[in-house]
Amino acid sequence: MLSVTDLRKTYSSGEEALTGVSLDVTGSETVAMIGPSGAGKSTFIRCVNRLTEPSEGSVVLDGVEITDLSGESLREARRDIGMIFQEYNLVERLTVMENVLSGRLGYTSTWNAFRRNFADEDIERAYEVLDRVGLGGHENNRADELSGGQRQRVGIARAILQRPKILLVDEPTSSLDPETSRAVMDLLTEIAAEDDIPLLINIHEVDLAEKYANRIAGLREGSLVFEGTPAELDETA
Ligand code: ADP
Ligand code: ADP
Repeated sequence: MLSVTDLRKTYSSGEEALTGVSLDVTGSETVAMIGPSGAGKSTFIRCVNRLTEPSEGSVVLDGVEITDLSGESLREARRDIGMIFQEYNLVERLTVMENVLSGRLGYTSTWNAFRRNFADEDIERAYEVLDRVGLGGHENNRADELSGGQRQRVGIARAILQRPKILLVDEPTSSLDPETSRAVMDLLTEIAAEDDIPLLINIHEVDLAEKYANRIAGLREGSLVFEGTPAELDETA
């Protein structure tokens, strides 16, 4: 379970991106964070795994205060946090398999270097997760040969390979057409439910948020302005 309390972020530019946001994500729940561009959604996710340093507040994942960690303990905690990005963040010249395994290594390298770093069971598991996301048989394709939907599936495979305690997903569909967006959302929510992983998704398409989330958090100008079910959101609209 993720429990965020009174999270604040003021960038060095003076921009107050988060003004004190509290949000819990429990069990195998899917929470969608919606809000206009610039509302602070991406800053929120980046503060949870400390890609961005929060200015104030608490981020607790399964009892561990993430904001207290540094060095090796922070690296360890980050392995429990699966991240999926809008622009996929793949290494274009590497293969699908290399990209998936790179999530565990935390750096990129060539296949020969990779092989030395992975037990056969790691590689077996990578084949398994690639099958699960529908990319079986594409292991040796380079990332730059893939479609947008396939790239996002690689991103999902990379995130679930590490058996995360939570999945944080930043605008997974903004670069995809509507049909591919739905397929990616189906896959993400299916996997999270099967593996009992809490899922927090930033998404600006309200219809997708309502279709896929159990709970919706609405952000505006760095503050939480709505929290409730999709039905409750419809009532306020
Ligand atoms: P921090 O306060 O976390 O150190 P900085 O203000 O130093 O963040 O900015 C970090 C990076 O984000 C810099 O590379 C900066 O150019 C970039 N950046 C600055 N302003 C914005 C903005 N409004 N939106 C997105 N990125 C920005
Ligand atoms: P959203 O994901 O909802 O579009 P962001 O979290 O990206 O919102 O941005 C929230 C606010 O913080 C915006 O005003 C944005 O310009 C600003 N911002 C984002 N990143 C940075 C940065 N690195 N440095 C300074 N300001 C930033």
